[in-house]
Amino acid sequence: MDLYTLNLEEARAVIDKGEVSPLELTEAIFKRIEAVEDKVKAYVTLTRDQALNQAKDPGNRMKEESKAALFGIPVAIKDNICTEGIRTTCSSKILENFIPPYDSTVIKKLKGQGSILVGKTNLDEFAMGSSTENSAFGHTRNPWDITRIPGGSSGGSAAAVSADMCIAALGSDTGGSIRQPAAFCGVVGLKPTYGRVSRYGLVAFASSLDQIGPITKNVKDAAILLNVISGHDPNDSTSAGIYVPDFTSVIGQDIKGLKLGVPKEYFMEGMDREVEEAVKNAISKLESLGAIPVEISLPHTRYAVAAYYILATSEASSNLARYDGVKYGLRVEGQDLVDMYMKTREKGFGAEVKRRIILGTYTLSSGYYDAYYKKAQQVRTLIKQDFDRAFKKVDAIVTPTTPSPAFKAGEKTEDPLQMYLADIFTISVNLAGVPGISIPCGFTLNNLPVGLQIIGKHFDEETILKIAYAYEQSTDWHKRKPKL
Ligand code: GLN
Repeated sequence: MDLYTLNLEEARAVIDKGEVSPLELTEAIFKRIEAVEDKVKAYVTLTRDQALNQAKDPGNRMKEESKAALFGIPVAIKDNICTEGIRTTCSSKILENFIPPYDSTVIKKLKGQGSILVGKTNLDEFAMGSSTENSAFGHTRNPWDITRIPGGSSGGSAAAVSADMCIAALGSDTGGSIRQPAAFCGVVGLKPTYGRVSRYGLVAFASSLDQIGPITKNVKDAAILLNVISGHDPNDSTSAGIYVPDFTSVIGQDIKGLKLGVPKEYFMEGMDREVEEAVKNAISKLESLGAIPVEISLPHTRYAVAAYYILATSEASSNLARYDGVKYGLRVEGQDLVDMYMKTREKGFGAEVKRRIILGTYTLSSGYYDAYYKKAQQVRTLIKQDFDRAFKKVDAIVTPTTPSPAFKAGEKTEDPLQMYLADIFTISVNLAGVPGISIPCGFTLNNLPVGLQIIGKHFDEETILKIAYAYEQSTDWHKRKPKL
């Protein structure tokens, strides 16, 4: 058996029994990377030497950690999560040579559990995009069909998990960036409740929406990683001081009698027929496992994309003001200070990031603030209330993750609005702050994965994990691997 094909739980088990050493596993992962990375291009930076050194360490540190949840597990990290001493680029020229002097909280937690960093994965610049084509460092490919995109913005992490170039990964999700690439690459992606996971050290895109979460080969692995990264952090005042359960404890519980809301707005005209069919079959499957589908309405869904692109760009325009050639990152000299600012930002940012800074600056400017930003915030409240109302009647909500399977590279790059619509089913979840998971629920005729999204109540990741696991175990989708 090839060690790189192991999932987290299996890898942990063979290490625990002493059958495989962390070094053997790490070497197997880098061998796999050597074999397929040229085709997939999931990574911006590989940390091979550090990883092998760490895995070799037979000293006390490793011994102490040997009972830790991620002992010896090679993980990949989206390159917008700060890693001390390791370049963190956000796939942007402006941060091309930025080496953070500190670890983000999630990285500290992963290290504390003995994980081994394989490398930093590609993304749409500053996590803005749905295809990983907005990266300054090349395009990532979908392992199921390398003429297609892997989704985005966490496309590198999803592709790395799907192609077995790591055991598990972290991504970030502002409007769908964990769930949509997970769906396109046939893996599991979980966006936790806003506030469940610390954002300290996550390079901010839209701070009221951003969350870090796991991208894994199966549902139980997602629960294991979520256990590690969750919890209040004094460095992030938006992280919640709420009890963190053991998310693996619900794995395997039955789902009889659980009510599953099926929002009629999520089965819309123009969506891909094969996706619709796969998702409807998944809902029938869940019914056969004892869950009860209930039709519900989330009436403000159709305003979600518009509201999101005002709020996210407004926050982005403010967050990205710090990249000015003075504080850190790229500087392009100019005749005077303003000229230096302008040249730096002109050269440092790609087209999509510039578009969003301009749009966000406009929606926040005096005279337009009330018409755009404030209105969008009001719509956000209505969207949240849709979910509150629905969750009085149901335990979770099931929808497609995306309206279509992975599209062709280049297909939407000329039309930003088409690209924005790729997140139509995931964005409301961020606006409402609730958790959502995408799991594989089938394949199209030309062998592209389809994702099922399960949405939960605030801080109720347990229920969606329970449903996701029950479904997963009744199917074989998660066992299929792309041929590379
Ligand atoms: N695709 C969406 C955007 O471009 C979501 C990105 C994300 O979740 N980071 O903003």
